[in-house]
Amino acid sequence: MTNSMSAEDRKNHYHKVRMERKKAQIDAAIARADTEKGILLVITGNGKGKSTSGFGMVARALGHGMKVGVCQFIKSRTDTGEEAFFNAQPNCEWHVLGDGFTWDTQNRTSDIETSERAWQIATKMLQDPSYDLVVLDELTYLLSYDYLDKDVVLNTLSERPEMQHVVVTGRSAIAELRELADTVSEIKDEKHAYKSGIKAQKGVDL
Ligand code: ATP
Ligand code: MG
Repeated sequence: MTNSMSAEDRKNHYHKVRMERKKAQIDAAIARADTEKGILLVITGNGKGKSTSGFGMVARALGHGMKVGVCQFIKSRTDTGEEAFFNAQPNCEWHVLGDGFTWDTQNRTSDIETSERAWQIATKMLQDPSYDLVVLDELTYLLSYDYLDKDVVLNTLSERPEMQHVVVTGRSAIAELRELADTVSEIKDEKHAYKSGIKAQKGVDL
């Protein structure tokens, strides 16, 4: 640095010094993160974007030629854009396994039966290393409502094939699931169009 430098030169100089330092930190962090393993992700919270985040990862994985399995535990509708699109992909297996929300069925016994049937299908995927990514959409509710045995679910998740990635979505993820996960995102609800009277829109909500 010399006194003859203009204010602009000085700014550029300090920017470069700062960026060099930042790059060194980032490179060191990248070098430290050198483990390869299947990741368990939990996308929870009250805001919009949990399932769509999971489906975004489905697109990524398929783009890499990976094999993907999706289980939808609560939803019973098979007319969503995501189902139409992803089910047509040869490397993607998509199961709609729910029979509606608890307040629709209003029947705890049948909810438990549906949950157990669905869990059997998920378990097959979680025991099969040919699936590179498994999305368990809205599984959280089956744990928070006690429809499935928590220990069975957590054990199956932790004993899955080493390189298999799993995404669990849904509100109110139980503490034990958050603990087991490698990545947990809590999506905050700041505003939602539905609350100002706008109905679910194709391409956005379904
Ligand atoms: P999405 O599938 O759009 O990513 P999500 O998985 O985060 O939503 P769900 O609870 O599964 O959230 O919501 C399913 C439906 O409810 C979607 O149509 C979504 O737009 C809507 N929804 C999500 N969050 C909210 C909210 N905070 N208020 C009202 N409706 C919501
Ligand atoms: Mg969802």
